[in-house]
Amino acid sequence: MLWFLFYNNKLLVKINNGNIAIPNKEDLTGLEIQLEREIYINGLDNPPCFAAEFTNAPQWLPDSFNYMSLRKLFIKSGNDTFGMAGRAYQIMHWVRTHQFCGKCGSPMNNKVDELAIKCPNCGTTIYPRISPAVIVAVVKEDKLLLARNVNFPNSFYSVLAGFVEPGETLEECVHREVKEEVGIEVKNIKYFGSQPWPFPDSLMIGFTAEYAGGEIAVDTLELSTADWFSCSNLPANIPNNKTIAGRLIEWFLLEGTYGLCSNNKR
Ligand SMILES: [Zn+2]
Repeated sequence: MLWFLFYNNKLLVKINNGNIAIPNKEDLTGLEIQLEREIYINGLDNPPCFAAEFTNAPQWLPDSFNYMSLRKLFIKSGNDTFGMAGRAYQIMHWVRTHQFCGKCGSPMNNKVDELAIKCPNCGTTIYPRISPAVIVAVVKEDKLLLARNVNFPNSFYSVLAGFVEPGETLEECVHREVKEEVGIEVKNIKYFGSQPWPFPDSLMIGFTAEYAGGEIAVDTLELSTADWFSCSNLPANIPNNKTIAGRLIEWFLLEGTYGLCSNNKR
């Protein structure tokens, strides 16, 4: 049984010889922590897992214990550990922000037969929130569209992304986001892959698309700049291939230009 315990949004982990592990029940014996919002989070191919958080840090922690942010865990750990920690974090965030029924205001209870919470007064059932967002690699001949978000650190470029709106298909969202952010039309939208992105509850749904018309006109509220980049002049600071953004850029280098790109290394 593994325990994903959060304190100040950071995960309590065990680090032995550089290996990051999630504490089990025995590891936690003797620690004076008062757990809140405990919830069973199993569902993936793992030992039974629980998530909880605590607001008072214990006076004493074993030397091997550490608090780690999810972003640091993403960089340092393997996919399995991060995947389950992301699931735990996402569920914790959801439980913390849905403690009361939105309809009648009563405190919510965990539902025992499924991953949901239910109001004991009016019966309203709420499922974990997942916020879908499209992310798209737009290619024009041998060039890829990359943009710098106003919130990105200086010189960091990535592909375009945006949240899906109610009533919209994923393809419509790709058309709208690209049009809104850079003013161009796209065609031939193809599904690429997906990645849960638990910061705090996104699901990134990746697509590739071809340029269909228009000139780049940047929405300056969201982007500071956007441009077409050939494989030989990609910006130095782009996402790595642990992220779906990085994998879309990798796709462009390997396949996206259909042989137009002679130098397929970054
Ligand atoms: Zn209610």
